[in-house]
Amino acid sequence: MPKDYIYPEFEIVRNEGRCTVCRRCEEQCANRAHAFDAATSRMTAEDARCVDCHRCVAMCPAHALKIVQSSHTFRPGANWTRDAITDIHRQAGSGGALLTSMGTPKDYPVYWDKLLINASQVTNPSIDPLREPMETKVFLGQKHTHIQRDESGRICTELHPQITLATPILFSAMSYGSLSYNAHESLARAAQELGICYNSGEGGLHEDLYHYGPNTIVQVASGRFGVHPGYLKAGAAIEIKMGQGAKPGIGGHLPAEKVMGDVSRTRMIPQGTEAISPAPHHDIYSIEDLRQLVYTLKEATDYKKPIIVKIAAVHNISAIASGVARSGADIIAIDGFRGGTGAAPARIRDNVGIPIELALASVDARLREEGIRGSISIIAGGSIRNSADVVRAIALGADAVYIATGALLAMGCHLCRSCHLGRCNWGIATQLPELVSRLDPEEGKRRLVNLITAWTYEIKEMMGGMGINSIEALKGNRLMLRGIGLTQKELDILGVLHAGE
Ligand code: SF4
Ligand code: SF4
Repeated sequence: MPKDYIYPEFEIVRNEGRCTVCRRCEEQCANRAHAFDAATSRMTAEDARCVDCHRCVAMCPAHALKIVQSSHTFRPGANWTRDAITDIHRQAGSGGALLTSMGTPKDYPVYWDKLLINASQVTNPSIDPLREPMETKVFLGQKHTHIQRDESGRICTELHPQITLATPILFSAMSYGSLSYNAHESLARAAQELGICYNSGEGGLHEDLYHYGPNTIVQVASGRFGVHPGYLKAGAAIEIKMGQGAKPGIGGHLPAEKVMGDVSRTRMIPQGTEAISPAPHHDIYSIEDLRQLVYTLKEATDYKKPIIVKIAAVHNISAIASGVARSGADIIAIDGFRGGTGAAPARIRDNVGIPIELALASVDARLREEGIRGSISIIAGGSIRNSADVVRAIALGADAVYIATGALLAMGCHLCRSCHLGRCNWGIATQLPELVSRLDPEEGKRRLVNLITAWTYEIKEMMGGMGINSIEALKGNRLMLRGIGLTQKELDILGVLHAGE
């Protein structure tokens, strides 16, 4: 049987009239898609190597390059699509699961785009954020329902540990190993300047980043990579990762090529080994077991750090969240199924889990019904794309949001979904020193700070437009949302009225 041949998905188009044969594209493409042909003194291209990362396009001084989606086609069919056919050929050839990266490209409903935001008119004046104070600061952690005073009337209730954020946005967990050191440092520097937090992910924390501790969330995942007492004490909070939106129900995976040098030392595993964290925590099979770990981590850090439990958005999410709230955790992070990943089986990413919008709304409603909403803060993540999504998430009940893909895009990512290959031409999802050096941590920080500053200003403008002057007043305020093009069932779950009502 002839070898399966799959026509390349992308074609490299070179404008020969503009190309000066400077060979910059050859130097910039770690996938070796460009080459110089000495016989003709011209550049050649191998389309099959191209992952559409846009690096050569952006760096070509003559603007001579573009990448186009191939128009080569199979016989059209709504059922057996190009993807369905090529996936079969790939798996018949390899015998393995199809690995991919970043969030699902599938055409599932994006409920954010079906939720319209309110604005004041006449009877409830709007607020001008340029001239009047707007509070975007949030405190994440358990809140007391009652306070106690001593004989002299002073409050004597001891507050639970909190994370303070200047704006309700955090950088979500992305491990050192899946990301380069320079990408991690960009996130750390930006978090410090913005007064927010970034998250170490499950790969431990490089010792050179310990001084960003007050702006760092350290993660404890099922693999326990890089976890030791100093690490637990280094961060502002500890996150127990039970699940991830892009791959609910399975563990983490860092390909062996990325486990080298400082990554292997920080993770405390040998170089060149696959870093596979187990699907479950082997000591957690119930909420009671989770509670044991929550209190073990509190005990290890003298009850000074809030504990976050991160779970993927799945079918019975509200019941699970209720259990998490009763486990003693201070914060629950819910990750929707459109969230990104550094590496995941495509079949899991594209088919398992539920959207963050529905998960968030049902969790907030359930915790309120049970009278325990104040005992835990909610962070929502899994495809927050802009400041309007942040406003919608808070109105649906989140205290704050996690962003990851948006942060990578700010640092230069062009969403080629090839992070798992380890040859990110933008220096973000790679450990190859010549590629890592392409991302300057100061420039990465500057772009991240710009992004969050812009979003914060837009959030203030939208809140002002609603006549609201604090995130606290927006939280769970579903009257500020109206649905459009949704079924009654969807509206019921989201807890919003239809536009026009
Ligand atoms: S992989 Fe990136 S750098 Fe290489 S040819 Fe394609 S777009 Fe250009
Ligand atoms: S981080 Fe790099 S490899 Fe991953 S999607 Fe972005 S550009 Fe591609």
